[in-house]
Amino acid sequence: MAYKFVDNYREQGARKRLVAHLEARGIADKKVLKAIGKVPRHFFFDETFWNQAYKDIAFPIGDGQTISQPYTVAYQSELLHIKKGDKVLEIGTGSGYQTCILMELGANVYTIERQESIYRHTIRVLPGMGYNAHFFFGDGSKGIAAHAPYDKIIVTAGAPFVPEILLKQLRIGGILVIPVGDEHSQKMVTVIRVNETDFERIELDTFRFVPLVGDQAW
Ligand code: SAM
Repeated sequence: MAYKFVDNYREQGARKRLVAHLEARGIADKKVLKAIGKVPRHFFFDETFWNQAYKDIAFPIGDGQTISQPYTVAYQSELLHIKKGDKVLEIGTGSGYQTCILMELGANVYTIERQESIYRHTIRVLPGMGYNAHFFFGDGSKGIAAHAPYDKIIVTAGAPFVPEILLKQLRIGGILVIPVGDEHSQKMVTVIRVNETDFERIELDTFRFVPLVGDQAW
């Protein structure tokens, strides 16, 4: 069934203002800004809350889901340096908004969600919007070895540590972006696979994510 919502002038205008706001907050990658300007974030909201869709806030959208804050989505997307055709593993599909942004950047996305109701919701909504990612249900803290290696891996939930098993699924030259810390706050961490055995780790700004729950997590 085709998606029922329309992208009208009011929402398009609000989206342009969100892009300008993210640029003012320090998001510099033009491709990321363009992707944010393209994906209709209000499609993830009940029509009653469309006036909230282009605010720079996370928001509960039903089914126990929250849609991530646009700044956080843009920040993680920028760190991934996506090139067209990159094979990207996303751990924590959630609403699927981040998935759409990655696809707009040209990524071939493998995305995994551990909560069944969220998984079922997203596999219906995203293809309805034209975003045909590879969807998986299960514990993403172990990655998805069957489809490795990945050019990029993004974790959209807060981890207690960087799971070794994810590093093994990165291609040489690949980048992992993962928030690491306790349940109250996490540092955004990027890990670059330099060669077979060496990794370069950089710690960046502080964020607050829902916990990554699983075998290699909380
Ligand atoms: N990126 C999403 C967006 O654009 O709206 C929001 C993701 S939400 C902040 C984090 C998601 O990670 C939740 O849906 C949660 O159920 C999921 N999650 C937590 N632990 C997980 C795991 N081990 N494997 C897969 N998904 C996990």
